Amino acid sequence: MLILISDAFDTALPDKLAKYGEVTDDRNRLAEAEVVLIRSKTKVMPEYIDSAPKLKLVIRGGVGLDNVDIPYANSKGIEVYNTADASSIAVAELAFALMISLPNHITRADSTMHDKNWAKKELKRTELKGKTLGILGMGRIGSALATRAKAFDMKVLGYDPFVYYSDLASMTPVLDDVLAQSDFISMHMPLTDQTKGMINKTTLAKCKDGAYIINTGRGKCVIEEDVTEALKSGKLAGYGNDVWYSDPPDWNTPLLGAPNCVLAPHIGASTKENMGRIGAIVDAIIGKYVAQK
Ligand code: NAD
Repeated sequence: MLILISDAFDTALPDKLAKYGEVTDDRNRLAEAEVVLIRSKTKVMPEYIDSAPKLKLVIRGGVGLDNVDIPYANSKGIEVYNTADASSIAVAELAFALMISLPNHITRADSTMHDKNWAKKELKRTELKGKTLGILGMGRIGSALATRAKAFDMKVLGYDPFVYYSDLASMTPVLDDVLAQSDFISMHMPLTDQTKGMINKTTLAKCKDGAYIINTGRGKCVIEEDVTEALKSGKLAGYGNDVWYSDPPDWNTPLLGAPNCVLAPHIGASTKENMGRIGAIVDAIIGKYVAQK
């Protein structure tokens, strides 16, 4: 059995998986692969699947499966898994880091100091305590963020069409109500037809003046031009972003010229601890697959 590791995984993983067969990272050997391990970079679309006649198992290290055509894969007898539980803490901690960074001006404080510019009077901070956080998508990551926000004495609202109750947030069924009340909005829903472009000119107009948005969900859930406009006008006080229209983004993205942005290169899942957890889950899924063969 050939296992193709197509994207970046824990460096210890090839040795761990060697008990199941040959392990390679040579993407040119796709046609021989029975198992393919991907993250967000490899796109498992019909053309890819058609060039992998031996493929039986695709494992996405991480959560989002928008880079896999699951119905087409299943129609070819290919099972598709993700490692959904592994990444929640890693992503929630990055969302929280962005949420702390923006109102504390951490990046501007650092860059002005490196410029030998004493900006003490300009950099007025605000606290998270007592502020309202609206979480869009109260699944695993949204819930992990809510736990952390509670520890900071924030009031937490949740918006999720499929979640009616949470011990961690006041579930609020109308999106506009969450937008109107939130000082911070954090996005944790998957990319679907319903969530694509969900933060746009119209929904931004419903937000509190001076709100902050954090997006560690999916880049295409926002219209970058509209977010940029809202940052320039001051409607938004800040935007913390880890996710893009593509990885890497088109470097002409207007967000690079927008004020009060803290930007990251899709590193939500990239903690050492998470890579270890993903490896353990991948090992277990392949172990089960081999046992059932
Ligand atoms: P999850 O499935 O546990 O939670 C997603 C939640 O979104 C669900 O509760 C679902 O009901 C809700 N949802 C669906 N449609 C919605 C809508 N229209 N409006 C509001 N909520 C909606 O998934 P998770 O593990 O919490 O991950 C959430 C997302 O985070 C993933 O789909 C992925 O896009 C993203 N993610 C990003 C990174 C990163 O590196 N930045 C890493 C992992 C996951």
